[in-house]
Amino acid sequence: MKNVLDELRNARTIGIAGHVRPDGDCVGSCLALYHYLKKNLSGDPVIDLYLETIPEKFKIIGDTEVIKQENMDSIIYDAFISLDSSSLDRLGFAQVYFEQANKTINIDHHISNLKFANANHVEEKASSTCEVLFGLFEEEKIDITIAKALYLGIIHDTGVFKHSNTSEKTMNIAGKLISIGVPFSQMIDETFYIKNYHQNQILGRCLLESMLILDGKCIVSSVSKKMLEFYDSTSADLDGIIDQLRITKGVEVAILLYETDFHEYKVSMRANGDVDVRKIASYFGGGGHIKAAGCTMHGTIHDVVNNLTGHIEHQLANLTSEQESEY
Ligand code: 5GP
Ligand code: MN
Ligand code: MN
Repeated sequence: MKNVLDELRNARTIGIAGHVRPDGDCVGSCLALYHYLKKNLSGDPVIDLYLETIPEKFKIIGDTEVIKQENMDSIIYDAFISLDSSSLDRLGFAQVYFEQANKTINIDHHISNLKFANANHVEEKASSTCEVLFGLFEEEKIDITIAKALYLGIIHDTGVFKHSNTSEKTMNIAGKLISIGVPFSQMIDETFYIKNYHQNQILGRCLLESMLILDGKCIVSSVSKKMLEFYDSTSADLDGIIDQLRITKGVEVAILLYETDFHEYKVSMRANGDVDVRKIASYFGGGGHIKAAGCTMHGTIHDVVNNLTGHIEHQLANLTSEQESEY
């Protein structure tokens, strides 16, 4: 695929969806594509965008009220586009629309993408789905709302240009978006760094209660449902905690668990060194990237941690023996 408009010129009804628990790249890519198509496809086609409730802070993009959440199983779209989702089940309530659509398109950057659509455009080296979309858009057709949406996705998936997925191309695209007028300082502060009082308190609790294991190479912390309720918060208030855990000196892998149900945990993992956390997340039914991945696991917190650390230990041991054999 070279130009997303060429793919969709004949479609009269178009659906778009991103993954469950939408993050910055998911929200940014969905809104960027929605507004780009709305603005540039002739003949005024029907375009519906489906996403779960988005974090309030992402509304800084503007024009977010177009997002739909109703579930009307009978709609059959001419074309349906999945964004930032490595597998079909990641689409959550919108999966049914994707399955019924006449033509399906999958635009993503996850190495674990299962290529589940009629047309799959997956760029594994791209920092974000927003970076992929920039390449499929015609630059002169990007207005300020689209630019803000793309910028949001890029800063969130690169941790504001610090993760190893940041490339020269990423920076060039960000530069072009800034030249369109993206209020970058405000967007970085308001969507990435600023935390409310309760978010700071949960962060503090997670750091205080974190545990170093595997000779200091792994750090683990967790958030119970009770804790979230106590602080009147949701999982959207946990952004950034895993990043703070990851930068603990000497740590190879950071793990954050939060309880979603009785004996059910959402797992976030981040790697600093050569441990491939995507491999571990995939083993437990999730996915992601080599240095940032996640999954859902069942059992007590101890079961979950033991199962994960078994895999980390195994990888660390193999890495050590590989290094030794190099001498
Ligand atoms: P996070 O830890 O921020 O939730 O996710 C890190 C990365 O792993 C993201 O790219 C996200 O899409 C992916 N990821 C997180 N949880 C899951 C999951 O349950 N399944 C899959 N396939 N990917 C996940
Ligand atoms: Mn995402
Ligand atoms: Mn992404």
